[in-house]
Amino acid sequence: MNNPSFPGIFSLRGQVALITGGGTGIGRAIAGAMHAAGAHVVLAGRREAELAAAAAELGERASIAVHDVTELDAAPALVARITRETGPVTCLVNNAGINMKKPAVETTSPEFEAMLRTHVLGSHALTRAVAPGMIERKSGSVLFIASMASLFGIPGVIAYTAAKSAYVGMVKCYSTELSPHGVRVNAIAPGWIETAMSRKAMEGDPARRQKIIGRTPMAKFGAPADIGWAAVYLASPAASFVTGVTLPVDGGASIGF
Ligand code: NDP
Repeated sequence: MNNPSFPGIFSLRGQVALITGGGTGIGRAIAGAMHAAGAHVVLAGRREAELAAAAAELGERASIAVHDVTELDAAPALVARITRETGPVTCLVNNAGINMKKPAVETTSPEFEAMLRTHVLGSHALTRAVAPGMIERKSGSVLFIASMASLFGIPGVIAYTAAKSAYVGMVKCYSTELSPHGVRVNAIAPGWIETAMSRKAMEGDPARRQKIIGRTPMAKFGAPADIGWAAVYLASPAASFVTGVTLPVDGGASIGF
């Protein structure tokens, strides 16, 4: 990743950013962008090797935490450990995610539940764990990585859509409660971004890529870094009056082209 300098208002210097799913794809790019903006980044996920490789690429001001977001009760201990070892978490990025493609009527309750546990309950557990410290310090920000599936209908992803749509409401609710204490809560709704997840979603359907590009005004897939830079903005003082929003970063796909 390029390492542009971030003057003043976009600087994350002094921040400690906890990024779930930080070892791969979009999470890794968010970590890279926030690191370039001066933050210490803590990359969390289940696979230690991916996390270690991503952190090693960044060097100083990068550490890892093996953490499964579905282990809801483990969230407070994770946040306490980071606070002890690195400093208070000033920015939480709820990015960890899974996807599943199945017609709505074939999606079982356990499959639905797994999707809600990872996205909705997992992010809520971590947000609850960081919020008291942020409220005490009267500053901090929480970001949720939603999806364009939060904004318009896509066939075959009912449980994913339910989970990601929940983020749109959650950031509004959290904002009403936390923002009076100086804590901002926002979401990013990425369009199609080149990662392992989007490649898997297109497996066995070679025409799908062209269809997606045809429905995107900018006529291309996004890069993980496109989400990274948006995350830097939302976590930075430049967005100090921005809370409760879901920002589409999708090359115009959500316009309904
Ligand atoms: P990846 O599959 O590369 O990233 C998913 C990340 O989530 C992995 O690092 C994975 O790490 C982590 N993860 C999954 N389950 C858990 C868990 N239970 N506990 C901790 N970490 C977990 O895909 P992307 O980078 O594309 O996805 C990142 C986010 O962006 C997801 O929330 C996705 O829904 C969202 N998104 C992606 C889009 C795209 O086009 N790519 C579009 C819109 C939204 P590990 O397996 O090591 O735990």
